[in-house]
Amino acid sequence: MKPVQFGIIDLTQPLSVLTPPWPTYEPLQLKFFKRLAPNGANGQLLTTSNHVGTHLDGPLHFCTHGGDIASLALNGYLCGPGVVVDLSDIAEDYGLYSSADIEARVRVEVGDILIINTGYHRYAWDQPEADEVRYMIRHPGPTIEFARWCKQKKIKWIGVDAGSADHPMNTKIREWMPVEAKRADAFLKSKYRRGLDELFPPEDYQLMHVALFPIPIVHAENLGGDIDLVLNQRVTIGCFPWRFVGGESSICRIVAFVAPDEHRRLLLKKKRMGRTSYGDCVPA
Ligand SMILES: [Zn+2]
Repeated sequence: MKPVQFGIIDLTQPLSVLTPPWPTYEPLQLKFFKRLAPNGANGQLLTTSNHVGTHLDGPLHFCTHGGDIASLALNGYLCGPGVVVDLSDIAEDYGLYSSADIEARVRVEVGDILIINTGYHRYAWDQPEADEVRYMIRHPGPTIEFARWCKQKKIKWIGVDAGSADHPMNTKIREWMPVEAKRADAFLKSKYRRGLDELFPPEDYQLMHVALFPIPIVHAENLGGDIDLVLNQRVTIGCFPWRFVGGESSICRIVAFVAPDEHRRLLLKKKRMGRTSYGDCVPA
């Protein structure tokens, strides 16, 4: 059999000590413990929490009996067919998205991997418009309706280009940043006639984690890279965390595999777009 030819589009953020961890988590810290002079090699020591940059939240992150990262199979789970949906046209601070918003833009098959472009990677640390507060605290998110739909659609895992797959005001951030919570509540009441207490009652707390991880439908957060090249497109997705026994989550690489002619077309498209200082495209 001839080897399969393909091109790769990287959907991963660059990773650095500048990358903000999820609020209150340990950041990535890096130091040289050996240098070429006099030790003959450069060696580095890394300290980090698992929730920095593009990373996969494993079942164990929110479920005591959930599997670790090593238990997630490359074949049939972490890698496979999927779709990248672009919701950036409806993205707004503290906004909501629903299954209907997704199905209005792409065809989602049962058993797909679903990558969501909220558009908020525009505010990621590596971008010219970087804004940590908007990226972590104000990105849009879903209500329980979306989690139920994911279950029904047997989505394998979800990737999102923002700080969390949950609405930030359905996480601990709601308690930690009362001024932001007040603003979010006022916005949601004016737009949806329902505030934080109705949209995110205590039983729905961190619904994307709590309701879906036991299944497991897990998710990856802080996607980026060249995600803007493959919006509203079906692709083969690959997620490559460490083979991490006991790992509740893991920093990972996420890519889209495309046919060689499609890859050439996407690279031409990239030539017409702005670039970050790390060489990734800047959202239009
Ligand atoms: Zn995480």
